[in-house]
Amino acid sequence: MEFEAVIGLEVHAQLSTQSKIFCACSASFGAPPNENTCPVCTGMPGVLPVLNRRVVEFAIRTALATSCEVQKKSVFARKNYFYPDLPKAYQISQYELPLALAGHIDIEANGAAKRIGITRIHMEEDAGKLVHEGEFAGAQASLADLNRCSVPLMEIVSEPDLRTPEEAGAYLRRLHDVLVYLEVCDGNMEEGSFRCDANVSVRPRGQKEFGTKAELKNMNSFRNVEKALEHEIRRQIDWIEDGGKVIQETRLWDAAAGVTISMRGKEEAHDYRYFPDPDLLPLVVDDAWVEELRKTIPELPGEKIARLESAYGIPKYDAGILSSSRALADFFEASAAFYGGNPKVTANECIHWKDAAVSGKLSPETIAHAVEDRESGAISATVSKKLVELAIETGRPIRSIRDEKGLTQVSDAGALEEIVSRILAANPKEAESYRGGKTGLLSFFVGQVMKETRGKANPKIVQEVLRKKLG
Ligand code: ADP
Ligand code: MG
Ligand code: ZN
Repeated sequence: MEFEAVIGLEVHAQLSTQSKIFCACSASFGAPPNENTCPVCTGMPGVLPVLNRRVVEFAIRTALATSCEVQKKSVFARKNYFYPDLPKAYQISQYELPLALAGHIDIEANGAAKRIGITRIHMEEDAGKLVHEGEFAGAQASLADLNRCSVPLMEIVSEPDLRTPEEAGAYLRRLHDVLVYLEVCDGNMEEGSFRCDANVSVRPRGQKEFGTKAELKNMNSFRNVEKALEHEIRRQIDWIEDGGKVIQETRLWDAAAGVTISMRGKEEAHDYRYFPDPDLLPLVVDDAWVEELRKTIPELPGEKIARLESAYGIPKYDAGILSSSRALADFFEASAAFYGGNPKVTANECIHWKDAAVSGKLSPETIAHAVEDRESGAISATVSKKLVELAIETGRPIRSIRDEKGLTQVSDAGALEEIVSRILAANPKEAESYRGGKTGLLSFFVGQVMKETRGKANPKIVQEVLRKKLG
């Protein structure tokens, strides 16, 4: 029997607001333990949460960028569970009436375009963190750091539309880039700003009903999500083929061992005893606000890739790499505007120097001049590379470095002929062998000319002159 996988992803993205979702504490990462806390986010009795307007704006902008329907009225609910890093013993989330519904994201995987549905987007608060460190009464001690309590999160739930680990990876990368383009999330996966739970089931190909799903947690890179899914799909198929039945559970990805491990039976929604939070009014979003926010949506990654491809005639692959960051795409366009040579060459350069380009260590003008000088034959590829390196190091204009160091390429055939004659005279044996049929010796002569000119000769013209002189 042939099986097919069904995958749906739940992404938690930390919103890059300065303060937390229901209090004025800093939401920044890396502060000393429990420094960013107050009575509200540590769950003291008698305090009241106040919703951060910026959090709502970030979530609405995400909803608009993913073609979701922003709901006029949404409600915050209490999700009840006990955990030592959750002092209120409930998490404020949205449940029955979330902020946004029914959107989608377009992806490309295995060369095919596909639209992936987004079920819902809602806002919620994060929990704290337990640090298992040191000893207490002779046993392992655990410490609670509540800095992360009430840091704003947005949960984005996909429809079970994904069929392969590659599609899941493509969806995650695109969603990640959209959030970073919107500047609502810093996208840092190691710090946990963008994390994903993957739901996966298998079914015999052709069957309509979904199989029972497992939920995978603890994957902190795109590659890990893909690997965990590959492994879990294989595991479920093997299990069913051996006569087993998949049970609904939460499994942990162990990246080092490359396996998923059962963590706990999946809790059901009713276990959480959700109910509307009586301390927070329903959130009402009017059309004027939504329209105001719609104006702040930048060109998104998919649109940018398509435009770069058609406007500059560069391959989609290159357009995709350039669009992996807004700053890099802007850098490319600025470079191309400085010099209208072959945009493909400019794209290659921008991709090659991408770290320096996005960190501001390199100017678009430098790349434009490097490309222009190479196309005109004024400098060789090797020299161009060296010059760009020097421009990054010193922050000086590339052409003044070129002129100061006398690195302009020798393309003048007359000057080269003289050098070639000298080299042929100095290597009569090799010249004779070449004329006798050992044409492979051409590169030996090119090398000699390069040595003589300290790499500044235009290799194409050197070859032409050599061929002429060697008959
Ligand atoms: P739960 O209530 O168990 O959290 P949801 O209906 O909220 O389940 O779905 C959670 C995620 O699981 C969604 O992304 C959804 O697309 C996905 N999903 C639902 N059913 C399946 C299934 N049978 N196989 C794979 N993914 C599924
Ligand atoms: Mg769920
Ligand atoms: Zn606080």
